[in-house]
Order: sequence, then structure tokens, then C-alpha cells
Amino acid sequence: MLTANQIRNGFIDFFKSKGHEFVPSSPIVPIGDETLLFANAGMNQFKDIFLGLVSPEHPRVVNSQKCLRVSGKHNDLEEVGKDTYHHTFFEMLGNWSFDDYFKAEAIQWAWELIVKVWGIEPDHLWATVFAGNQAEGLPKDDEAAELWTKATPIAAEKVLAFGKKDNFWEMGETGPCGPCSEIHIDLGPDACDMKNVPRHRCRVNGGCARYIELWNLVFIQFNRQPGDELVPLSAKYVDTGAGLERIAAVMQNKTSNYNTDLFMPIIGRVSNITGHKYTSKLGNKTDNAFRVIADHLRSLVFAITDGAIPSNEGRGYVIRRILRRASRFGRELGMHEPFIYKLVPVVVDCLGDAFAEIEARADYVSTVIESEEASFGRTLDRGIEIFATAAGRAQKSKDKIITGEDAFQLYDTYGFPLDLTELMAQERSLKVDTSKFAELMEEQRRRARAASAKGWLSITDKVNGQGVPLPETEDLHKYHVDQHEAAIVALIDDDGFKSEGRIEAGAQVGIVLDKTCFYAEAGGQVGDCGIIRTDTAQFVVENTWKLANCIVHQGKVAEGAFDVGQAVQAIVSKDRNSTKRNHTATHLLQWALQQVLGDSARQQGSLVCPDYLRFDFTYPKAVTEQEEKKVEQLVREKIAADLPVTCCVMPKEQAQKLGAMALFGEKYGNEVRVVGIGAEGESQIDQAFSREFCGGTHVDRLGSIGGFKIIKEESISAGVRRITALTGQGLTAYLEKASDIVDELSVVLKVPSEALVDRVGQLIKDNKKLSKQLRSAAASGSDTMAEAKQLLQKCEKIGETSIIIGRLDATHIEQAREAIDMLKKKAKSAAVVLAFDDDGKAALLAGMTNDLIKKGVKAGDIVKQIAPIVDGGGGGRPQMAQAGGKNPKKIDDALKKAAELIKEKLGGV
Ligand code: ATP
Ligand code: MG
Repeated sequence: MLTANQIRNGFIDFFKSKGHEFVPSSPIVPIGDETLLFANAGMNQFKDIFLGLVSPEHPRVVNSQKCLRVSGKHNDLEEVGKDTYHHTFFEMLGNWSFDDYFKAEAIQWAWELIVKVWGIEPDHLWATVFAGNQAEGLPKDDEAAELWTKATPIAAEKVLAFGKKDNFWEMGETGPCGPCSEIHIDLGPDACDMKNVPRHRCRVNGGCARYIELWNLVFIQFNRQPGDELVPLSAKYVDTGAGLERIAAVMQNKTSNYNTDLFMPIIGRVSNITGHKYTSKLGNKTDNAFRVIADHLRSLVFAITDGAIPSNEGRGYVIRRILRRASRFGRELGMHEPFIYKLVPVVVDCLGDAFAEIEARADYVSTVIESEEASFGRTLDRGIEIFATAAGRAQKSKDKIITGEDAFQLYDTYGFPLDLTELMAQERSLKVDTSKFAELMEEQRRRARAASAKGWLSITDKVNGQGVPLPETEDLHKYHVDQHEAAIVALIDDDGFKSEGRIEAGAQVGIVLDKTCFYAEAGGQVGDCGIIRTDTAQFVVENTWKLANCIVHQGKVAEGAFDVGQAVQAIVSKDRNSTKRNHTATHLLQWALQQVLGDSARQQGSLVCPDYLRFDFTYPKAVTEQEEKKVEQLVREKIAADLPVTCCVMPKEQAQKLGAMALFGEKYGNEVRVVGIGAEGESQIDQAFSREFCGGTHVDRLGSIGGFKIIKEESISAGVRRITALTGQGLTAYLEKASDIVDELSVVLKVPSEALVDRVGQLIKDNKKLSKQLRSAAASGSDTMAEAKQLLQKCEKIGETSIIIGRLDATHIEQAREAIDMLKKKAKSAAVVLAFDDDGKAALLAGMTNDLIKKGVKAGDIVKQIAPIVDGGGGGRPQMAQAGGKNPKKIDDALKKAAELIKEKLGGV
């Protein structure tokens, strides 16, 4: 029995023997194609060839493409676990003809491989062809139908014709398209998984697991123009796709893809960890959880390896959703702690030979998964409870629907992706109000959305849709010169690509030149700015982009007009020199990080612009201050040594042999450019201490970088750190600003700059002390008020007048005064005498309302008379008076005396 690895290799070898060149899979996260979240078919990496934008390097190609079908046009997420043959991640084996062979060979070879080489029972095979579509004037694919019956022994009644949905392939709204022909296998009546469905009949394209599509052969022969018209293509292409997992199931005699050697090791490990048994039944909750976890794990490993990072939007959110689904299915197997990350090595064991990248990044991938599992785990159990309550409400409702508000709360507070809530609802035969959910989401987005950059993307789309071959721009000048003569060959505006025409002042367009010294955005380095001019006109270049091999200068006509065909002068902005410094410094930084932190610190992304550089790298923990200093020191030593930088172009194999560092997931051509630091000339490139694959612009010697400083080190996601640093002019500006701030502070704080730190330290200390005092004063103040109120409640009255006399606990004079004011106000007519022990001394205070003063009861008099009792003296106004004394023991006597005096005056005794 062949292993899956042998089947994959067999496929590749078979087509190699038919003159095909093996091309490795493109990354699952497409680089430089923002229109697609994940690679979902083998053709993605050859799109530009079909569009006629680039010419193929080989006319015949074979590959095994890593595919993820979880979003957009192809989304098989819902099927996973419920059936035996749809996965989110799978490998698509494919053979390709770029205007070389066509239908006959494609059909014959597919049959030969399946039946003769692999020995699959021919009687079980069926073929489908395109039935045509009258409304669109598309003919039936008689050619393919005839080839099946003539060139293979398949019976005519087993060649079926189907409509557009199943047998016509289109890349998008416009562009290349054509009929396809599929090979299906009949796995026998027992394989049907829809036996309980009324009126179900097993048949090809009938939706059950008895007939399964193995291989799709697409014959691209038309181009759909804007406005729906189809024109035949002059070049014809073959694009085929066969799912390795499905072929493996057939070849290994299994009824389910999950029972092949691609999945069983994972399922076995899940079983070990959870203690549950896998029984391979569809519709069984536990088994389903096994399948979903095994499937999602593979997707996570491949996507994270190729650069996807769980986050809240775009690709990152798709990955997060997959992980959260897997986590939640883990609960079904009793797993409440992170465990998915522990499965990463099994995937590496299964697929590491074919895809070395997953082995190289296994530790990083585990770290990312574990951290995501842990963070979702914290809210998951609570979320499951909230869901149960929401589901309970829905069960009682008429429509059996979970409200959009509940779904949104689960999403927003508990991190439940909508599809997870839907899935859980489905398990209880409930629905979710997704339109209300979408409304709430949109509201939230609207709140959060900042003005987004104007869509260059839509223009790119338009140009792609036109299917015109774009001119190739010669751009080698970018490495050597900052200005030169060129000619305008085309314009790109909102309507797309134009090879003739004129633009006038104010126009926002893209200009294409025959050759250019502008650097187009790539490899993290921003596109150049500058100007394109003639004697009478000026165009300001705001950015430079690459579309296939065509370089586009995007910007605005500032004055005059330009015509296609005109000679112009292209001048790159001086900012380019700062960009160069930052780019070379980025290489130095990566080298220094690896010296200090070890090889696990590897580039994850970067941004090189004139103002600063940003470098993202994989590393599990924060970089300490000491490590940061060491890195800076290493970089500065190299800059001070003014070492040379050498760039040279060489075959990829040679660069790899040199150990030049490449970016994970990036696809390189056969010829690559290597930037070496510390080597004098190309012949010595192997002496360079830093060697990287890189197409960017660099300084000639390190000395011109001028200086280097890290200004920020932070985490951007689990296992990924980001360093922001400055060089040259950016650094000078930063230091100047910092020094201005120091000068200003010195003036404000009135100390020399050397004493600033001490002074601020002292201020902070004082501030802390004062706030502490304030807090305790406020607390005791409110105590004093409470005590005073109590005195009021208990006090004696003479007529309308309250005689409030008593002791307070520890307090301050100020608070006692406030208490008197408060009492006078509250009681309206009051004679107040308060006393307290002020840190070993007696404090006496008296206050009288005006009606009492008129009756001759004056605060000053009272205080004067009782102060001697506590060995002190004092006095004040008739309204308010105070005294201090040395003998607090006598306070009670003094108060007693005060009461007597007041009552006497008021005639109350
Ligand atoms: P199906 O109708 O079974 O979903 P499809 O028409 O979506 O298949 P294609 O887009 O033609 O499939 O892809 C080519 C081949 O890739 C299929 O013939 C099949 O072998 C495989 N394939 C497609 N989708 C999946 C998937 N989700 N999981 C595993 N293999 C798949
Ligand atoms: Mg499908």
C-alpha cells in the first residue's frame, strides 16, 4: 500500500516523465496579492500567466499546492467533520500546460496515471464534461466527451454532461475561463452518507459520499471581457487539480480521508491526550470533534508557518476563527486547557518531508497556537454558558432563532466567531439572526473605521480584468542612479490601462515609463517618491508600484501636460538615501539580533521607509534592556568600521549554499539577488558576515548610515516582537528633539540637566507623600463631620437654640472650624463649643449664630473664659473663636464650664 508521501511523489514523477517541471507550492498566504486571502487552488501562483501579464518559464509544470478553503468563493469550513472528504487545508496535485498540450494529453495522462500506474479499478470511474449553456452561447464540450470515449476504455454512459455550476471554470467576473472535465469515483452503495434523506439517489454530483470528485481538468480557452462577452483565447491552458487526501483514501482502501496516514497519526495523538477513542462514525459527536480538530490543526500549522498571525481582521481573523472552533471542539473531548499546540509535531512528522518550512517553524507555530488557545480558553467556558442561556431563550421563541444581539455579545465579549455560534446553534436545530449581527458589526466598524487609503487595489483589479499584456519596465537603474531620461509608454487611471493619451494638470494617475530608476514597493521597502518632468510640465510621484513586471509611478500632474510617447526626465527624491540607510541597517539589525538572541530570532516582516525602519521577528519573549543595548552596540561597531556592502545576482542554489537568509514563505525566482555586508566585491561575497536574499536598495559603505538607535521594542502578537529604530537624519532629528525637551525641563525645574533625574525623582516622592497626606486628611475630615452631626443629634435645647458642646476625636483645627460652620447652618440657632486633643495639646473652639450674639452670647468671650482651665489662652470674634492650652486632661472641665456660661446667659439654668 502506498503512503500519501509516495502518492504525492508518484504524481510528480509521473508528470516529470511527461516533460513537466516541478514547481514548489506557493505560500498559503499569497505574497503581494491582496485580492486573495489564502491560496485556494493550484492556479493562484500562475494567475499572471493566464492573464498574459508574464510569460511562463516552462510550458509544462507539475506541483502540489497547499490550499486553504475557508473564505470567499471556496469555503468548505461547514463540511469539515460532517463528511469524510472536505477539508479546510488540503493538497492539490496539479499538472499544467501553458499554451502547450491541451485536452487530449490531459485526459489520456490522467487516465494513465490513475488506472495504469496507480491501479484504481477503471469500472468505478466516471467522467463529466461541460454540457454547454445556450443563454451564454457556450457550446457543449464535445471534444472532451469524444476524447473520453475514444482515448480511454471508459463506457460512453459513464461520461456525463453537466452545466456551468459543475463544469465551467472562471477566474473572476472577467478574465480567463473555460470548460472542465472531472473524474469521479464510485465507492459503492455502503459509502453513501445520505441514506436517511428522503428521495436521495446516489449519482455523480449528487452530493453524497458514494460518488466523489477526484480530479478536475480545466481547459482554459476563453477570455470573458467586461460586459460578459466571451472571446476565444489565442493561447490555451490546461490547469488540473486532484486532492491528495481523496486519492490517498482510495489508494489506501479507506472509506474516509481521515482514515489515511495523513490524518490517523494526528487522530491517534488526540486520542492519547484526551483519553477518548475515535470510532470513525459520521454524525457521532466525539468522532466529529476528532475530525474537526485534526483538520483545523493542519490549516493552522500551514497558515501560521507561511506568515498568517491570529488577529481581528482579514487573514488573521480567519485563522483565529479556525483555532477557536478547534478549541471549542476540544471541550467536547473534555479538554479545558490548551492542547492543540501539542499536536504540531505530528503534522511535522507527516508532512515535513514535503514541506520543509513547517519543520523549520514548528516551535514558533506551537507558541502562537498555545498563546491563542490560552487567551480564548479564558472566556470560552463562560461563553458556552452565555450561549446556553441565549439558546434557551431561542428555543422558547417562535422562530427558534438566536438574536443578533446575543450573537454579537458572544462575539464581542467572549470572542465567539459568528460561524462558531452558528455551528453551536445548528447542533440544537436553531438559527442565528445573522443580518442583525451584521448590522451590529457594521455599526461597530463604522465607529472604528478611520478613513482608509484610497483603493489602489481597485485599479489593480481593473487592469487585471482588462487582460492586456503590460509592458515590462527595465528598472535595473534603481540600484545605481537617481535620475535619467526615459519615455512614457502608458498611463493607468481609474478606467484602467491606456497605451495612448494625454494627462493634464490635476490628474491623479499612474505613469509607466520604458525604463526607470524608481524603486517599486517590494520586500518591505516603500516605493520611491520623486518627480517626472519635461521643460514645461511636472508630475509628482507619490509612490511607485509593481504590477507584474510593469512599474507604475503613481501621483499627480502638478503643472503642464504629458503625452504617451513623450521623453521625460525621471528624478528620484533625495529621501531615497535615507531609505537606503534604513534598509542596510535592517540587515545589520537582523544579524545583531541573531548574535544576541540566537537563531530563533528570524524576520517575520519589515518596513523600510525614509523616516525609520521597523523589523518584526519571531522571538518568544521580550528583549531585555541589556540585550537591546548589546544589539545597538554591535550594529554601531559595524557602522563605525565603515565596512563595504556588496550586492550580486546569482542562481538560487548558489545563494542557498552560501547560507543567505531568505524570508519564510517568500517565493524566489531562479536568479536571486544577495546583499552581503562586510565583503569587498562579488568575488568575496562568501566572506560577508550578513548575507540576505534582497532586492532592495542599500548604501555602499556602512559608514554612511551615520548612527543607529532602537526607539521601541514591543510585542505585536504571540511569539512576534517588533523593533523600531532610526538611522542618519531620522536619528539626528530625534536626538535634537530629545535635547530640546531636556533643555526646556531644565528651565522649568530650575536645575542643570545632570540634576534633572534626581529632581524629578524628588518631585515624584514629594508628590506621593502629599497625596497620601491628602487622602488621610480627607478621610479624617469626613469622620469629624460625622462626629459633629452626632453631637447635634444628642444636644440639649433651650427653646429653639441647640447647645452643642462636646469633644472630637483627633482632627485638625481647619476641620473643626468647618464642623462648627456646618453645625451653625444645620441648627439655625446654635451655640457650639468643640474641643479636641491636638497632639498632646488642648484645642478649644466656639461658634455662635447671630441671634445668640444679639443676646450677648459671644464666642470670643466664652473661649477667653474657659481657656485658662486648660492652661492656655485665646479669643476671637463673637461668631467664631479658638484657643490652645497645654493641659488636654482638663478639656472636659473646660467644656463643662462653657456649658454653664452659655446656659447662664440664655437663662436656661
Ligand atoms: P467538491 O465539489 O468535491 O467540493 P470542487 O469542485 O470544489 O470539489 P475543485 O475546485 O475542482 O473541487 O478542486 C480540485 C480538486 O481538489 C477536487 O477534485 C478534489 O479532489 C480536491 N478538493 C477540492 N476541495 C477540497 C476540499 N475541501 N478538501 C479536500 N479536497 C478537495
Ligand atoms: Mg468544492
